[in-house]
Amino acid sequence: MTPVLLLNPPWPASILRDYWCSSVAKAGYLWQPIDLLAQTGWLDHHGIGFQVIDAIAERLSVEECLRRVSECDPALVYLLTSPLSAPEDDAFMAALGTRRLIVSGEAACADPAAYLAGHPGVEGVLKDFVGDALARHVLGERGALPGLFLRGDAAAPGASMPRRQASFRMPVPRHLAFPGDAYRMPLLGGVRFATVMTDFGCPYRCRFCNSGASGHRLRDIANVVQELEAMQRWGFRHVFVKDMSFGAVRGHSLAVCAALQRSGLTWHAYARADCLDPPLVRAMAGAGCRLVQIGLESGDRDLRRTYGKNLDDAVLESAVRTCKAAGLKVGGHFVLGLPGETPTTLLRTYRLAARLRPDYVSFNVATVRQGSDFDGARSPGFGPDPERWTLAARNLMYLAYYSDVRWLWQVLRGADGKDLRDLAVSGTGLWRSLVNGRAERGWLRRLRAPAAGPGAPRKS
Ligand code: SF4
Repeated sequence: MTPVLLLNPPWPASILRDYWCSSVAKAGYLWQPIDLLAQTGWLDHHGIGFQVIDAIAERLSVEECLRRVSECDPALVYLLTSPLSAPEDDAFMAALGTRRLIVSGEAACADPAAYLAGHPGVEGVLKDFVGDALARHVLGERGALPGLFLRGDAAAPGASMPRRQASFRMPVPRHLAFPGDAYRMPLLGGVRFATVMTDFGCPYRCRFCNSGASGHRLRDIANVVQELEAMQRWGFRHVFVKDMSFGAVRGHSLAVCAALQRSGLTWHAYARADCLDPPLVRAMAGAGCRLVQIGLESGDRDLRRTYGKNLDDAVLESAVRTCKAAGLKVGGHFVLGLPGETPTTLLRTYRLAARLRPDYVSFNVATVRQGSDFDGARSPGFGPDPERWTLAARNLMYLAYYSDVRWLWQVLRGADGKDLRDLAVSGTGLWRSLVNGRAERGWLRRLRAPAAGPGAPRKS
């Protein structure tokens, strides 16, 4: 019998469920689920045996996954859920029978008491996935465990999260327990990469996003360094710095840059445009950063202000220009269909994207993310309601963006063999998801009603 199984359950498409943030991969990318990853370190630290099954990375069917679960025969399963895959997740949990279940995921973490009330087979919800409450619970510790919500004690002190300002440390996660070659990041040369957190949450509160809902904690730098050293020993060459907004706390980010520079690893990260001034961007480039993914959100200044990204066009333009000048690739992330979106604002968004010319763009359809201001429990009736025309406009914008012949020629002329392979992988992935509109409309419908759960504009 295995004491604990860390499980990312199966689903027909490449879904990302970690960090209370759900999305379906549009262009062939996939990373290690950070919640499960962080728990491997704590379980190991407490001497608790575990196995990992990432059914999404391994592309396991429901039957194959159930067979693997029964082979490892876990005493307790810690698994990820998502509002996007909620019906299938619920059916899968039912198929696991009477096994002890602790879950994480957007809906569960936004309202653990409600989630537990609707899921009588689930023992608890782990909200603070960088803490050791799960391990201590497995060892039989009773009483309040910060960040772990157990059935029947939702009102107990254990239901609270750790202090918002406190910094944190965690044991080095067991990266090699995950199927390393299955994780992909097109545009980065197919490099084998690992994922690391240097903070938790976000200090900002954009209204469509839930990342700031549990405050912001910084990870101890010496503890980050330990993990980077382990990654080097284990043969990783690239790191996904999975901070929700790199650069938000300048001194800490510069210290992380220095640690990354010493490690010799290359890396990429999400960042806010107003943090990306020349000194920080130079430090990032010098520290091996290859790609910055920037939340540009909308080409309409008023929409950005309404939803918490109160930044002028000039700030967005300067961030993209500064990153490009420093030799960093830029990903531009947009949210379409926010309340107040019109054909005019969509056109402004397309024009901004075309003017800034990021190395890639991600046009996301706005959905209700639990824990954000769009969450029905906080603001009844307030939230996006993406119609077919938003999807159609999104697809047209992709087509227009990527069929600019002059830009394509520039990209292809500068590309080597690896770049071409990356472009082919991400282009095919994107094309597949665009033509599969029916499935996408189905998932979006699940995210439309706040009661059913939230969805997925990109971070930062
Ligand atoms: S959109 Fe980015 S900056 Fe805004 S709250 Fe979310 S993670 Fe933070």
